[in-house]
Amino acid sequence: MQTTGDEIVLFWFRRDLRLEDNAGLWHALTSGYKVVPVFIYDSNILGKLEPEDARISFLRDILDGINKTLKKAGSSLLTISGTPVTVFKSLGNRFKIKSLYFNRDYEPYAIERDSAITDYLKELGIPCFSFKDQVIFEKDEVVKSDGKPYTVFTPYSRRWISLFKNDQIKSFPSETLLKNFAPSGSGSYFHISDPGFICPPVNVKPPHLEKEHLADYDKTRDFPSSEGGSYLGPHLRFGTISIRDVLRKTHMVNRVFTNELIWREFFMQILFHYPYLVEKSFRPEYDKIEWLNNEEYFDKWRTGTTGFPLVDAGMRELNETGYMHNRVRMVVASFLTKHLLTDWRWGEAWFASKLLDYELSSNNGNWQWAAGSGCDAAPYFRIFNPETQQQKFDPGLIYVRKWIPEYGTSSYSKPLVDHKYARERALSRYKSGINN
Ligand code: FAD
Repeated sequence: MQTTGDEIVLFWFRRDLRLEDNAGLWHALTSGYKVVPVFIYDSNILGKLEPEDARISFLRDILDGINKTLKKAGSSLLTISGTPVTVFKSLGNRFKIKSLYFNRDYEPYAIERDSAITDYLKELGIPCFSFKDQVIFEKDEVVKSDGKPYTVFTPYSRRWISLFKNDQIKSFPSETLLKNFAPSGSGSYFHISDPGFICPPVNVKPPHLEKEHLADYDKTRDFPSSEGGSYLGPHLRFGTISIRDVLRKTHMVNRVFTNELIWREFFMQILFHYPYLVEKSFRPEYDKIEWLNNEEYFDKWRTGTTGFPLVDAGMRELNETGYMHNRVRMVVASFLTKHLLTDWRWGEAWFASKLLDYELSSNNGNWQWAAGSGCDAAPYFRIFNPETQQQKFDPGLIYVRKWIPEYGTSSYSKPLVDHKYARERALSRYKSGINN
C-alpha cells in the first residue's frame, strides 16, 4: 500500500464486506482522494471467540475475495489485528489521512468504539464521515407520531411499509469506481491465520433470492425439511449483499418475506433505543423469575440429546452447520426457557457462539420473544409442545431423521422431562416470578 506523502482517505470495512452498492465506500471513492481500504481484526471481538470459529473462516473467505478484486484493480486490502484505537494510531503514523469513512453500526459496543475513534481522529484534525448502509431505516426514522420508538412490531411494520418507496431506493455503485483505490505496494495484505485462528473450511449457502424460490415463502418457510428460506442470514450479517439490493430483487415477491426483513430492522432499532437489553429483560419483572438453571439439562439441550426429536434435530443442525431453521429455533428456545426453566441468556449465548448469522439484536430479540420477557413477546403461558410442533411441521420425520440417525432405535435418548409436568412447572414459576 502506498506510503508516500500523498493525502488519502481511509475506508473502514466492518459489517459491509462488499465492493458493490456500499454507501460509505461510494462516498469515500467519490471524495476526490485515493482510498485506502482497511479491515481491523478487532481483538476486543475476536478475543472472545474459539480458535476454530467458523465465522472467521467465512470472514477470511470474504476478505480474500475482496482482496483479489482489489488486486486486479491495482490496489489491496489492508488488514490489521489489534484494538481499533491502537490500529488507528499506527495508521496515523503511516498515512497522511485526510478523513475516515465508514458505515454506521448500531450495536452498543460499536457505537462506543466508533465514538472513541471519531473523538481520537478529531483531536488530530481528521474528520470522520459515517453513513447508513445496513438498514433501510435507522435510529429514529421509523417512530411513533410522538417521536417515541415503537415497541410493538405490527404498527412498526405498517409505518415502515408506508415510508418505504421501492423506486426510491438509493444506489451506491461503488463497484464502478475501483480505479479510485490507492495503488498497493507489496506485503500490505495480512492473512487471518496470523491472529491465531484455525479456519476450518466453511460452507455458507449463497442467498436464494430467486422469485420462484420465494414465491411460496409464506407456505414453505415453517417446514424445516423444505429449505424454503432465503439463507440470507450470514450475508446480511457480514454485508456481502446490501439490504437495498435484497429489497430491489425481492420487491412484491412475497409480503411475508418482506415482513421478516422488517423484523430484522425492528430488533435493530429496539436494541439501539434500549441498549440495556444486552443484559436485561425488556420487561424488568421477568428478571425476577427463579430459573432452575440445571447444568445437566443445559448440556443435554446443547448437545441435542433431550429425547425430544425436533429439539435435538435442531440443536444438532446448529452444532454441525452453524444454521438452524427458524421454526426450530423458536421450538428449542421455548423448550429451554419453559420446559427446562433455563435463563434465556444461556441459550442466547450458545446461539451466539454457533450461528453463522449471529446478530446481537435479532438473537437477543428472538430469545426474549421466546422467553416472554421481550417487547412484543409471546405471552409467557404460550408454551410450544415440541411433540405437536414436530407432528405439524415435520410430519414425515424427514428433518428429524436427517439429524438424528439413531432416531427410533434404543440408542436414542429418553425424554428428559415430562411435557405436562414441565409445562405446569413453567407456568407456576413464571407466574410467581413476574407477580413477585
Ligand atoms: P429467511 O426466513 O429467509 O428470512 C430472511 C431474513 O429476514 C433473515 O436472513 C433475517 O435477516 C430476517 N429475519 C427472518 N426472521 C427474523 C426474525 N424472527 N427476527 C429478525 N430477523 C429475521 N436471525 C438472525 O439473523 N441472527 C440471529 O442471531 C438470530 N437468532 C435467532 C434466535 C432465535 C431464538 C430465533 C427464534 C430466531 C433467530 N433469528 C436470528 C431469526 C431467524 O431464525 C433467522 O433470521 C432465519 O432463520 C435465518 O434464515 P434465512 O436467512 O433463511 O431467513
